[in-house]
Amino acid sequence: MTRIGILGAMPEEINGIVSLLKNRREVIKGMRTYYIGTINDIEVVVVFSRWGKVASATTVTHLIVEFGVTELIFTGVAGAISRDLNVGDIVIADSLVQHDLDARPIMNQFEIPLLGKTVLYPSKDLLSIVVNSINELIKSDSLERLFSLNQRQAFSLFNQKVVVGQIASGDQFISNSIEKEKLLEMLPQVLCVEMEGAAVAQVCYEYKIPFVVIRTISDSANENSVVDFNEFITQIASNLGIIIIQKLINNLKNDFYH
Ligand code: SAH
Repeated sequence: MTRIGILGAMPEEINGIVSLLKNRREVIKGMRTYYIGTINDIEVVVVFSRWGKVASATTVTHLIVEFGVTELIFTGVAGAISRDLNVGDIVIADSLVQHDLDARPIMNQFEIPLLGKTVLYPSKDLLSIVVNSINELIKSDSLERLFSLNQRQAFSLFNQKVVVGQIASGDQFISNSIEKEKLLEMLPQVLCVEMEGAAVAQVCYEYKIPFVVIRTISDSANENSVVDFNEFITQIASNLGIIIIQKLINNLKNDFYH
């Protein structure tokens, strides 16, 4: 039986997704509130990941072990590392790396102890459904219609695009150009940086749970990162997350589980 775990790094987005749930019930455990219900007749469990690698790994473990989720969708925001990305663009991970994991000289840089891997990959099927779903939203102007002209101007939200590539995670909010350049030098393929994705990927890999990570760019991981960060989350990113999840669950139902 399918039960999708929806793990979000923005409480505002979680509230919006929770309002989509039918037959909703709640379980509170370990400072987390798990919302159980259905969207389009698909069983889902929605929860705020909390921030950072330990917190999000713990939350996803709980989702898998206690709630038996069979697939995992992670959504949140991230700082742009690639120069081609603008605030409001959407990145879908095709690989994830923990940029702060470094057990040299006993292991390679970024190598996950005991797994012998530095990079983890999401489910190909989920990845392609997510890419198609977001492209459909962009093509039908649904993303553009979500926001007023004022909002789009305030956050320079024009020609939003979806990009597939590598995401780096670490227990660090990157908000200066030196750290950003360091990251780019260490991991030239990385598109954006955040604090949870690769940790969640590790747990999903170990428990053999297909997963996908979706991130809206909220900042440029430099000195301007904190400017308007919270406004962007409440006004823009969480609403984007809600519409993406809604579309994704629709498409999953049609394409995947018919
Ligand atoms: N809004 C919170 C802070 C969120 S913590 C507050 O007011 O305290 C940061 C969240 O944004 C995490 O989910 C992290 O994954 C993501 N994030 C966005 N930009 C980031 C950046 N430049 N570096 C690291 N994480 C970033």
